[in-house]
Amino acid sequence: MKKSDAVALLRRLVSLPSVEPTQTDRPGEIGGEARMADFFAGYMENLGFDIERQEVLPGRCNVIARRGPADPERTWLLESHMDTVGIDGMLHDPFAGEVRDGRLYGRGAADCKGAMAAAMDALARIDLDAVAARGDAILYVGAMGEETGNNGARAVLPLLPERISRTIVLEPTEAQVVHASKGIAALEIDFTGRSAHGSNPEVGLNAIYAAMEFVARLKAYAAAEAAAHRHPLVGAPSMNVGVIRAGIAPNVVPPACHLELDWRVVPGEDIEDVKTALRGILADMVREGLCLDAALEQTQQNCPLVTPGDSPLVRELVAACRASGLDSAPGGVRWCCDGSVFCPRSDETVVFGPGSIKQGHATVEYIATAELEAASDALARLLAGG
Ligand SMILES: [Zn+2]
Repeated sequence: MKKSDAVALLRRLVSLPSVEPTQTDRPGEIGGEARMADFFAGYMENLGFDIERQEVLPGRCNVIARRGPADPERTWLLESHMDTVGIDGMLHDPFAGEVRDGRLYGRGAADCKGAMAAAMDALARIDLDAVAARGDAILYVGAMGEETGNNGARAVLPLLPERISRTIVLEPTEAQVVHASKGIAALEIDFTGRSAHGSNPEVGLNAIYAAMEFVARLKAYAAAEAAAHRHPLVGAPSMNVGVIRAGIAPNVVPPACHLELDWRVVPGEDIEDVKTALRGILADMVREGLCLDAALEQTQQNCPLVTPGDSPLVRELVAACRASGLDSAPGGVRWCCDGSVFCPRSDETVVFGPGSIKQGHATVEYIATAELEAASDALARLLAGG
């Protein structure tokens, strides 16, 4: 196997600003993924991959790199997001990629250009023709727009094969092999009441009061769900009411109230059951005369990530990590990533990468170069070994 070039590669990736455009006041200068997309496409093309670009938003592309037989025995999907969060308040140069005391500093060094450099470097180090000859196709998606809701991953789904054998989403997991994570369901509820003058509230039906009563019942239900569905790796499901909008003036009974909440779904919990239960609560409230109508709608769905801990991909990646000097084990995380989007399409899905998510959105972001190189070794071993 060729020597790792992951540190130099990561310095290059860090030097290509790809800040989520809504998180900078200089979007024209450092915003968007275009520089990363061009570099990634060129690098993969050099390795014999076919390149397709998909423009998801103006000037913001996914890059899909494909290599291997047209009718593969097995299809691997690697995925990295190319965007980073903003750089406000950072305590070091975000784009210099300075290496000091065994650490490489820069925006994206951990989240998630480090993991991307490890995977790109791994592909450059192995015999890709031998991988193809064995019947394995490799797809590598460089995705845009992860930091603001997995837009790139969702958009690329129609361009991917119906069935994917093995998906590795490259995110900083401290080189742990993550096979379980929470999903997210965003729910919106609109309460309808009846307007009246504030001097005569008893002829109206206050939609804010209805929403308040719902929140009280919702919290009781969520507490029961949390107790019933505690997952050994990712913990209990959780809920947050994040938006509430209503009202016209202090002297008007509000006829409508809009509420938005975020439900973190754990493996083994069915969001459809949650929605059915919440609709039941709302129906009770209408029956009790607390509002005229209450409609619940789901606006976002990220499934929980669930791959059995003893599945071949998990076991092989853990073994490859240990052979590369990493202290890796199968595990779960509470946060949600693009893995949720691909999990339903893939026989096995894991999230893996060097670096820590704690560094991810911080004012000092770095990755340990030894861990970066070891992760490249592990991925090279896994992909070359079959
Ligand atoms: Zn990330």
